[in-house]
Amino acid sequence: MAAQTVASTSNPAVDLGPAAALSCRECGHRVPLGPVFACEECFGPLEIAYDFSAYDTEELRRRIESGPANIWRYAPLLPVPADVADKPNINPGWTKLVKADNLARELGVTGGLYVKDDSGNPTHSFKDRVVAQALEAARAFGFTTLSCSSTGNLAGAVGAAAARAGFRSCVFIPHDLEQGKVVMAAVYGGELVGIEGNYDDVNRFCSELIGDPAGEGWGFVNVNLRPYYAEGSKTLAYEICEQLGWRLPDQIVVPIASGSQLTKIDKGLQELIKLGLVEDRPYKIFGAQAEGCSPVSTAYKAGHDVVRPQKPDTIAKSLAIGNPADGPYVLDIARRTGGAVEDVTDEEVVDAIKLLARTEGIFAETAGGVTVGVTRKLLKDGVLDPAKTTVVLNTGDGLKTLDAVAGTGLSATIRPTLDSFREAGLA
Ligand SMILES: *Cc1c(COP(=O)(O)O)cnc(C)c1O
Ligand SMILES: [Zn+2]
Repeated sequence: MAAQTVASTSNPAVDLGPAAALSCRECGHRVPLGPVFACEECFGPLEIAYDFSAYDTEELRRRIESGPANIWRYAPLLPVPADVADKPNINPGWTKLVKADNLARELGVTGGLYVKDDSGNPTHSFKDRVVAQALEAARAFGFTTLSCSSTGNLAGAVGAAAARAGFRSCVFIPHDLEQGKVVMAAVYGGELVGIEGNYDDVNRFCSELIGDPAGEGWGFVNVNLRPYYAEGSKTLAYEICEQLGWRLPDQIVVPIASGSQLTKIDKGLQELIKLGLVEDRPYKIFGAQAEGCSPVSTAYKAGHDVVRPQKPDTIAKSLAIGNPADGPYVLDIARRTGGAVEDVTDEEVVDAIKLLARTEGIFAETAGGVTVGVTRKLLKDGVLDPAKTTVVLNTGDGLKTLDAVAGTGLSATIRPTLDSFREAGLA
């Protein structure tokens, strides 16, 4: 697996499996694996470059299929050491791909509709995938404190991963998040700091902290460990294809906060095609935002290549990033694959949460309301093809955003008598 071609840039002290180097997404400049995230030549984002040249397709497929029922079954395709499954981590992934026939009937989808339900992860959101990756990088680079700027779910995932792996954690969130997210982030015993400001303020603060002695020796999962963190989202693509019987879906609807997840799902699908694990045929990626924080869909609809920052105001707080780092790459992918980016109102988000719960027994957080709501809208507008195999992501658990469905409650309050029950008209 040692890559001849990148020997000059590899760092022999760091074993992150097939990861060979960091490479700039904009100019291709390569640097050794390390806790850096921006290109020194052009300030473009750094990404993991791999050496997969030694893999035989059938052998790789067998190795994956006999691996553990979590993301480490894909260790040969991730920046992690080969023995990663033996290390203390939260081991997320291999969540259910639910064939959503009731929802399909309601929405008129005939080509097969699936919900990839990531609420089944250890801290009940997709963020466990990216944090599990970042933790392995933090371990490799010798960090002992894990940190992040978070819209809520990430804070909980970092707290849990740090607790399990024996790291200290100190995480930063906007002070006014949902109670469910605050409790979920605090319960694991790390430090949790509320910042008076929105997510973009929290993120700016963390960038300053990284350059300061106060943040020295800290692994910020979504800042200086971002290239590693981001790769965790590839596992969503791998799992969806493997769970479909090593087939690409035709259409996939993905929520957008920073846009990292969407870009890495595309990267994961491209890798599976190149490795011969799935057939090479077209797929379309659709991005979903809430209207109250829709910088990417606004740019998409206006035909722009740049994303103008917005001040978020939506109940979909986990997606409320007004200045999304990967926004321009999301636009590229939506346009290249023939997809689209769309947004829905908070009212449509709530409706969609209830629709998914009522039809499939899945209680999604607001981000899941965004993807289901956008799916419904794109079907109605004829942008999504109802005759194609479609996968919708639910990335979080409704128990963390109970306020969104406040008012949903008792059908009746009765005395404990049969007469009283009959009077209520429910018999
Ligand atoms: C963080 C998050 C996302 C996606 O975030 P990106 O920054 O776009 O990768 C999606 N859903 C939920 C619930 C999240 O917490
Ligand atoms: Zn560069």
